[in-house]
Amino acid sequence: MDPYLQPRKDVIACCQWLCRHGYFGSLLSAGGNVSVRIPGEPVLVITPSGKPYMDLVPEEICVADFDLNRIAGDLAPSIETAMHAGIYRDRVDVGAVVHTHQAYASIFALINQPIPALFDEVALSIGETVDVVPYALSGTPELVDNVRRTVANGCNCFVMQNHGALNLGKTLEKAWKHAELLEKTAQVYYHALATGKPVTTLPDQTVQLVRELRK
Ligand SMILES: [Zn+2]
Repeated sequence: MDPYLQPRKDVIACCQWLCRHGYFGSLLSAGGNVSVRIPGEPVLVITPSGKPYMDLVPEEICVADFDLNRIAGDLAPSIETAMHAGIYRDRVDVGAVVHTHQAYASIFALINQPIPALFDEVALSIGETVDVVPYALSGTPELVDNVRRTVANGCNCFVMQNHGALNLGKTLEKAWKHAELLEKTAQVYYHALATGKPVTTLPDQTVQLVRELRK
């Protein structure tokens, strides 16, 4: 019996939904990557590199420790595995990481503009801001450092400069929902900015109250 079967199946279900809904930019490619932390162990389950998501089977999902030693799975793990492991090391509240190339959030990754908390549900579940992770080439230690520095703000969504989006959650279901909420928010914010009219954000008082509630 595979002790990692359920998280491997969960990762596939999430990836295939994200793929069908355009979050990886293409149905045929394998852009982005998804991982889940194994509770109580320095171990993560993560998508392999370069294998189209719609074809994945559970035994192809990689299992590795936080030092990137392979525990199970014959395929090479995602090039961003060190980024996922770094997030799990620093953010003990995070149990899953969903890295996407979702379109509307990616607009803000090109104009390098954080997305403020615009709606109550964003402030409550994502946090007070969607900050920009400074650019570094995929798979490099520099990108891992930039991500670790930025996610230290305790929020759950980020845009990665000239790259895509990063969604964190206590569980995979939550990280996945945050990806969807980020996309809706980025879409509405983009269209609101395009009107040229002033865009209101949540009052400071609300943001402060929600910050206390999230603690
Ligand atoms: Zn990517």
